Amino acid sequence: MDGQTRLFYGTRRRRPKLARAEGAYIWDVDGRRWLDGSSGAMVCNIGHSNPRVLDAMRAQMEIATFGYRLHFETEPSERLADRLAQAAPDGLGRVFFTSGGSEAVESALKLARSHALAVGQGQRWKVISRFPAYHGCTLGALSVTGYAPMTAPYAPMMVQMPKIPAPRAWLDGRPLDDPATGQHYADMLEARILEEGPETVLAFIVEPVGGASTGALVPPAGYMARIRDICDRYGVLLIHDEVISGGGRLGRWFAGDHWGVVPDMITISKGFGSGYMPLGALIAKDSIAETVLDHGSYPHGFTYAGNPLACAAGLAVMDVIEDDGLMPNAMAMGEQLAARLRALMQRYGFIGDVRGMGLLQAFELVSDRDSRAPLPAALNAYDTLVEAAYDEGLIIYARRSRGGHSGDHFIVAPPMIVTEAQIDEIIEKLTRALDRFAQGAGL
Ligand code: PMP
Repeated sequence: MDGQTRLFYGTRRRRPKLARAEGAYIWDVDGRRWLDGSSGAMVCNIGHSNPRVLDAMRAQMEIATFGYRLHFETEPSERLADRLAQAAPDGLGRVFFTSGGSEAVESALKLARSHALAVGQGQRWKVISRFPAYHGCTLGALSVTGYAPMTAPYAPMMVQMPKIPAPRAWLDGRPLDDPATGQHYADMLEARILEEGPETVLAFIVEPVGGASTGALVPPAGYMARIRDICDRYGVLLIHDEVISGGGRLGRWFAGDHWGVVPDMITISKGFGSGYMPLGALIAKDSIAETVLDHGSYPHGFTYAGNPLACAAGLAVMDVIEDDGLMPNAMAMGEQLAARLRALMQRYGFIGDVRGMGLLQAFELVSDRDSRAPLPAALNAYDTLVEAAYDEGLIIYARRSRGGHSGDHFIVAPPMIVTEAQIDEIIEKLTRALDRFAQGAGL
């Protein structure tokens, strides 16, 4: 095993060893420092090593670190469930804890199915989602994920779920603020429901603001409300996957609140645990949970659900976000970051789009701004630019955005504690990385 590792993360790439992390920075064992410009994978919303969260965790550790949910309820899990239900739109008052986002999505799909069975609609099982979209890597969550590199190898092992195009207005050359654009994409849902047979459609799952697979995709005007109407018309449950968009970095606990839309279920994870502990949840309408309990059962659950240490961390994270005014800061710093990224478009003709909301911002690279044609896949831009930034001491998050074959977007989503000086630092480091990338690619 010389020079090798026993760790198996599915790649041979090695990474430096983390020594410590504090605020927006991470250091490795050789003393190198990185600005965590993507909060890991849009996780560490309040930054690293927050003393209040660490204190809350230490206090809980003295009490108990585990209580099996079928044997005991715990105070942190009850309090966090209350807190989440209060933060959620009216009517969504039942919280089913998980350890992560994929588990939360699995739980939503299965609760929707259990609800259909409870109301005598057992023919409903299809969950419509969008392409591209990311909802998790377990087989159920993967079946609603629209991201070919991760789905294709496992296709024979999954139920094929219907997909409709995500509303990529910029890519399709449609104005984002025109209600006709929102209607155009929302009506694809109605058409698909009718094509599948409305009596077979269980749910529609959507990221209110897209994350990893679409690069901070903001919905066009009218889209979210019209989606809700269409779901209501056909008795289809609406699931907001807020694993990335929830937790405050978009200025609200739930991004869906920006459009005043009330879904039937919300899935959360990442930012709500902020990296302190694995934590996720499904928040469901009381009426759905009650119907399931009245008429059937919900045979589903994870061993670590409602872990008291994870819930104590989650409570402290919500306290910090509220008490330290981090949501307003996320909106203010997000505006600055967006403006600075947009300014880079003047310097680099190959940045085709800058989009996002709050501290979930992204830019997408193109070979031609007018046609929005992607950069040649051979340039491997998403890897090359991320590595160039990494060498400069800046972490950004990248995915190939157009179904995995071409197109590259980059997410910049620093912790919500980020300062103006740190936004400057992000832009300086990113500029150096973009210069190196442009030079190497001959752009
Ligand atoms: N849903 C969304 C919107 C996500 O972004 C992710 C993770 N990137 C997941 C679900 C899955 O979460 P996890 O990796 O914690 O299982």
